[in-house]
Amino acid sequence: MGAALSGAGRYRDLSYWLSTLDEPLTPRPALPGDADVDVVIVGAGYTGLWTAYHLARADPSLRVVVLEKEIAGYGASGRNGGWCSALLPTSLTGLARRHGRDAAIAMQRAIQDTVREVGRVVAAESRTDRPSRRAAAFSRLLGH
Ligand SMILES: Cc1cc2nc3c(=O)[nH]c(=O)nc-3n(C[C@H](O)[C@H](O)[C@H](O)COP(=O)(O)OP(=O)(O)OC[C@H]3O[C@@H](n4cnc5c(N)ncnc54)[C@H](O)[C@@H]3O)c2cc1C
Repeated sequence: MGAALSGAGRYRDLSYWLSTLDEPLTPRPALPGDADVDVVIVGAGYTGLWTAYHLARADPSLRVVVLEKEIAGYGASGRNGGWCSALLPTSLTGLARRHGRDAAIAMQRAIQDTVREVGRVVAAESRTDRPSRRAAAFSRLLGH
């Protein structure tokens, strides 16, 4: 996929989200050599950055390095639909049939907790654009 893209728009043209960023989308320099750290995370997508964020919050003395071969958000995290919701791409009854009622309920609750957690972190970290979701909108995200 990367081979077909070149020039200044290499990253910006990948998605709506990347095209709307103001900052230059330039890969950071490679590590100059060996590094002595506590945790190495490979990939600066949601999974890697979320992990790095929570590790740093849990123990600020941890030396965490995130290695990314392109730019942050280069993968699916920078190109998705942007929906943060607790709606499952399958039915809850179907899940219960395959994995049992308790597992289906636990999964739905975990997804709802995730939406709440994303909202909490975005609100806590946002300086300019607080996600002051009205109760009804937030309830929709939770699939209520
Ligand atoms: C078209 C589409 C629409 C979607 N819509 C939604 C949606 O609306 N809502 C939703 O919740 N989810 C959606 N998803 C799913 C969601 O985007 C993914 O689940 C999520 O982005 C995965 O994040 P990730 O960090 O695990 O992976 P990625 O975002 O793919 O991150 C992996 C990163 O690792 C880097 N990398 C890979 N190999 C190496 C290496 N060897 N060394 C260094 N770096 C490396 C990549 O460059 C990349 O930046 C969608 C996905 C797609 C494809």
